[in-house]
Amino acid sequence: MDLDLVPIYFTDERNLLERLSDCLAGALRLKVRGRNPWFDPERSYDRSRGQYNSTVLLKMLLNDPTGGASRVLGVTGVDLFTPVLTYVFGEAQLEGRAAVVSVHRLRPEVYGLAADEELLYRRLETEAVHELGHTFGLLHCAERTCVMGSSTYAEEIDLKSAAFCRRCLEVIDVIADTRGS
Ligand SMILES: [Zn+2]
Ligand SMILES: [Zn+2]
Repeated sequence: MDLDLVPIYFTDERNLLERLSDCLAGALRLKVRGRNPWFDPERSYDRSRGQYNSTVLLKMLLNDPTGGASRVLGVTGVDLFTPVLTYVFGEAQLEGRAAVVSVHRLRPEVYGLAADEELLYRRLETEAVHELGHTFGLLHCAERTCVMGSSTYAEEIDLKSAAFCRRCLEVIDVIADTRGS
């Protein structure tokens, strides 16, 4: 299976996307390629909230004129929301193709702490694997360290690992196998 990694308002000064791309290739056995957005992400901006609508972004990511890769992941630096939530770290289509993650609230600086690039990368990796897990049909998992655990606050992301627990991994493996990776 292949994955398009799409930076959206994301300036990658520190090669975070390259690291993420290597990680996803290994963890999910995906063939990853970087791609620029083929849509205008500004259309997802909500002026009254000053944030970007992640559901609208997902729709745009899906509307790929080339037909698209089997998975597409947007990575953005802007703050995301859904109509029912004040903010989200990311959103994905359950058993779908598209997912999006934001690093905005993953940065320690947002909480008045010192910048920490390693921490930022770890959170990004965890959230990216988590959202892609949803596209493979995984729901939230109660296993404490499983990447599919839900997190509302950035500190909660730090409590889990970027890896699937054994039960979640079995689901991923079945899908990867049946669709021929
Ligand atoms: Zn989730
Ligand atoms: Zn799990």
